Amino acid sequence: MHEMSLCEGVLQVLETEAGKQGFSKVKRVILDIGVLSGVEIPAFEFAFEVVMRGTLAENAVLEINELPAQAWCLMCAESVTVNARYDACPKCGSYQLQISSGDEMRIKELEVD
Ligand SMILES: [Zn+2]
Repeated sequence: MHEMSLCEGVLQVLETEAGKQGFSKVKRVILDIGVLSGVEIPAFEFAFEVVMRGTLAENAVLEINELPAQAWCLMCAESVTVNARYDACPKCGSYQLQISSGDEMRIKELEVD
């Protein structure tokens, strides 16, 4: 499962940060996930619980911000917000869009002890 390996990636970051910053427990993890990242939120939440079990982030609260995607519309010559990879431009209906963001995933904030 794709979400499992993503959570393992998050855990690695947490462990690295714990070593650097000297905390031993993560209480809350806030993630930004772009709508085009292909991450299924319910699957991710499930994987998070499983992967974090027995680690420094056991029982940590997971909060996910879904970020809309940005695309450049060739017809409007401006940046527009889209909700899916093959959406039309919300302004002019054109499909000539170049996606510029929306497939990222990053840790936005940690609450630690
Ligand atoms: Zn447009």
